[in-house]
Amino acid sequence: MLRLLGIGVRGLEPRASWPPSRHSTKLSYTPLARGIILHPMAISTSASKAKHAQSRSGPTKSECPTRTATAALLAWFRANRRPLPWRTAWRDPYRVLISEVMLQQTQVATVVPYYLRWVERFPTLEALAAADESEALALWSGLGYYGRARRLHSVARAIVSAGLPGLPADLAGLRALPSIGAYTAGAIMAIAHNQRTPAVDGNVTRVLSRVDALSDAGPAELNRSVEAAWLRIAPRRAMRHYAEALMELGATVCSPTAPDCVLCPLAGICLAKAGGDPTAYPAPVKRSVTTAVVHACALVRQDDAVLLTRQTQPGLWHGMLEMPRTEVQDDEAPQDAAARALLAVTGLHGHLARALPTVRHSVTRFRVTLHPFEFSLTEPPPVSASGPALWVQVSSLASAPLPAPQRRVLASALGVAAGVPHVC
Ligand code: SF4
Repeated sequence: MLRLLGIGVRGLEPRASWPPSRHSTKLSYTPLARGIILHPMAISTSASKAKHAQSRSGPTKSECPTRTATAALLAWFRANRRPLPWRTAWRDPYRVLISEVMLQQTQVATVVPYYLRWVERFPTLEALAAADESEALALWSGLGYYGRARRLHSVARAIVSAGLPGLPADLAGLRALPSIGAYTAGAIMAIAHNQRTPAVDGNVTRVLSRVDALSDAGPAELNRSVEAAWLRIAPRRAMRHYAEALMELGATVCSPTAPDCVLCPLAGICLAKAGGDPTAYPAPVKRSVTTAVVHACALVRQDDAVLLTRQTQPGLWHGMLEMPRTEVQDDEAPQDAAARALLAVTGLHGHLARALPTVRHSVTRFRVTLHPFEFSLTEPPPVSASGPALWVQVSSLASAPLPAPQRRVLASALGVAAGVPHVC
């Protein structure tokens, strides 16, 4: 029977009072198209408790639409959640941190292989802190928004150097760490520590702004209203499942343009659905203006190695390795810009050998057009471990921290067989 109800098998947290006793919660279920709805109904064990329960104003749990919707949401999640790798490590704050940071602005399907590689190489905060930042960037290579990898690395170092045993287990402590924002801290507290702490990402904002038909009074007020809705609908227990369930609902059912309200466990309390126009919520966000930039880069090969340099300027691809690259100036031919970039890094003039296919790539607010050219050098450039130019073996490129567009250029010029997989 317990398995039929899905209790204590794979889903809701085992409850301290389970199996049911005279003091525990009574459960009934209603079959749905997918999954079941649980209706928790408090039963009292004495006349005084019954009197106390009756004296409270408002409907009982079984009659309260919000409580019914909460139970339906948890049951829906238990029946429909995707078997994502980070969901086997819910209680590990470090793994929650990694998955939540990777999932920012990135699709789940893209994140999965990166997450698996990351936790295999850096299974703990200590392992991450002990590694070079360049190794973290290399594992992140192709996932984009590389500042996230740098911030994770700096958080790991900050905790280890402070002698802490791990991530703080309280909201204030998490927020005090560099680069951990309200969402990430809330997600760690709710998922890893099962605390009643709102974890409001874009998916959750969409779901709850529709449930409450929140008109957009500005991002700060919308966020406050969504957090209030999160707390209002939250169950008393099973907080980690609730937090994940809302995120999952936004990712799979309450989509931005075509919410599937027929399948939605929150349909009974959703004001936007009742109003007939769910996609009107939340109000569209004004997109930041994208900036088109045109860059050129120089590929130089010597034997089985490629000339690379480390990007030291803040901004695009900071800290990563790349071929000498620069922005193409007005009235400048792209190959001249590539030659200029090569001269700046090596102090040498190269001979243009060939133009390589142009690569286009969007990153943050930039739309980058990258014109690559292959050059030969009449003399080897001065390289040293500390200098701007270094030779990297082609066989090592796969594990080098290269930006995605440069990886594509190298894959095109050298071939995947030359050791440049993970092309995005
Ligand atoms: S009922 Fe529809 S609009 Fe409302 S939360 Fe569910 S899927 Fe979204």
